[in-house]
Amino acid sequence: MSAKRNTWQKDAVRHALGEASGFVSAQDLHLVLRNHGSSIGLATVYRALADLAQLGEADSLQSTAGETLFRACEAGHHHHLICTKCGRTVEIGASEIEAWANQVAKQHGFTPATHTIELFGICADCAD
Ligand SMILES: [Zn+2]
Ligand SMILES: [Zn+2]
Ligand SMILES: [Zn+2]
Repeated sequence: MSAKRNTWQKDAVRHALGEASGFVSAQDLHLVLRNHGSSIGLATVYRALADLAQLGEADSLQSTAGETLFRACEAGHHHHLICTKCGRTVEIGASEIEAWANQVAKQHGFTPATHTIELFGICADCAD
């Protein structure tokens, strides 16, 4: 299995990820691709997603259920508000969070290096 032979699969995964409205699991994406007639395997979807995350073309995070979720994201540092029912995602302007994180770290004598902050909730569409 050469890297070249798998390029179309990675492109298909990248495309499907770009179409998703929010964070999705490898299983979700696999289902979407299968429904569009792709014969791609789940393991290949996993690998392609891991590659994209490593290349910085996708964000990955752990859901509250401990599942790894992926999304095609804006480059640069940002945070997310994620619906736990439908996966819909809002990118949050980071300035307030940055100020808060720096202040808390300083209070405890820490030099803030990095942080991962994601907010989970139920979106308006899923609320009723
Ligand atoms: Zn993002
Ligand atoms: Zn929702
Ligand atoms: Zn931040």
